[in-house]
Amino acid sequence: MAIVGGGFTGLWTARELLRRDPTLRVAVLEKEVCGFGASGRNAGWASGLFPMSNASVIRRYGRESFDHQRRVLQDAVVDLGASTRNDGIDARYVRGGTMNFARSDIQVARLTEEVAAAREEGIADHDLEWIDGADLDAHGRVAGALGASFSPHCARIDPARLVRGLSDADEHLGAMIFEYTTVTRIVPGRNDRRAEVITVGANVHADFVVRATEGFTTTLPRERRTVVPLYSLMIATEPLSKKFWDDVGFAHYETFADDRHLIIYGQRTHDDRIAFGGRGAPYHFGSSVEARFDENHKVFAKLEATLRELFPTMEGAITHAWGGPLALPRDHSPFVAVDYDSGMASAGGYTGDGVVLSRVAATALADLITSPDTESEFTRLPFVQRLGRKWEFEPFRWIGINAGLSLATWADRVETRRARVSRASRWLDRLVD
Ligand SMILES: Cc1cc2nc3c(=O)[nH]c(=O)nc-3n(C[C@H](O)[C@H](O)[C@H](O)COP(=O)(O)OP(=O)(O)OC[C@H]3O[C@@H](n4cnc5c(N)ncnc54)[C@H](O)[C@@H]3O)c2cc1C
Repeated sequence: MAIVGGGFTGLWTARELLRRDPTLRVAVLEKEVCGFGASGRNAGWASGLFPMSNASVIRRYGRESFDHQRRVLQDAVVDLGASTRNDGIDARYVRGGTMNFARSDIQVARLTEEVAAAREEGIADHDLEWIDGADLDAHGRVAGALGASFSPHCARIDPARLVRGLSDADEHLGAMIFEYTTVTRIVPGRNDRRAEVITVGANVHADFVVRATEGFTTTLPRERRTVVPLYSLMIATEPLSKKFWDDVGFAHYETFADDRHLIIYGQRTHDDRIAFGGRGAPYHFGSSVEARFDENHKVFAKLEATLRELFPTMEGAITHAWGGPLALPRDHSPFVAVDYDSGMASAGGYTGDGVVLSRVAATALADLITSPDTESEFTRLPFVQRLGRKWEFEPFRWIGINAGLSLATWADRVETRRARVSRASRWLDRLVD
């Protein structure tokens, strides 16, 4: 087995293959070091989230598949903690849930509607609830919070510790990991010829080649339109004081966001920093991926301003800033696919939810490869054995994606203005009364 990419997808796949069959010869080929990609740089939300709305999943795959998928993802959050512990990896896993704050009337309306819709979709109170007042304080507070939706299905992790720990665990199981090995081409198998991975230094023949390159996929030949590399950027503060954390909460390491359109996300780290990130970096023409795109000082400054707006009493300095590409599929659905004729396999398209999804996808891949004739709860998932459609040609991709990003920024600006007007009118009403 040859696995291209040493991130969560590649490393979980190696682990799952070797656990099923320790006699397999598994090679992981990574162009930098394991965890160089999004897996070593993300915000550490190990969540049961899926990058499509519940309504879209139900519409596309049906209610039964939706229920099944939701259960598998929720279980996978717990399982990730258990299996990393078993492998002796201290990934700083704490399952404290996740909060999506409403900081304006519009956001309250949207989130309470979402919670009400969840009930219709069969999601129970203990899986997703609206909290405010003392219940909100019991978890955590950001400035201007009127309430939040809360889900227990999320753990805070340290992603770099997890991915480096996984590569050690894989080697222990017998995987051969080749770092600083750039794959330049993957040649599908045909008739009696096995699939082949071409690298700068050597070629690898394999029964199956797993492409696990996510946001970097477009750098491989003929993959330019498979997914879109979207940059997400992050900052981290210095460790913050006990007084600050006593004031704002997050004692159970709840991860947090608010309900704006241009996604933001944060976590309290093991050493009491805030690691905080968001979208907003532009999409680069031709789906290009370059190291210089990992930094965008305008976006870093915006992230710092937003973080200080959420936590006005925070005095700590920003000590780190970084970013990286994640992969956006054309139809928003992740994919897992194995072609038995050519020996080509791939998994990805998780958008911003790949920490847990990559593990689920890897388990499905390993099941498909080692037991092709047996259905498992993972191979039954609706995004398994399907490849989404390709993205449009340029310049349509560039126009469409950047227009979407601008629209989200504009919608947030309008909502902020409307929230200010509604706050001012409430204040005037009180004055008149
Ligand atoms: C800033 C940021 C924050 C995020 N936050 C979260 C979060 O909180 N929760 C969540 O669930 N998801 C989050 N995500 C998404 C999540 O990190 C990814 O979905 C997940 O890590 C993808 O794992 P992967 O192994 O598929 O890809 P990657 O980790 O990107 O690994 C791909 C690997 O392939 C290697 N590679 C690429 N091309 C080649 C080649 N030609 N030859 C050899 N090797 C190659 C790369 O070097 C890389 O190491 C975030 C992403 C980013 C960028």
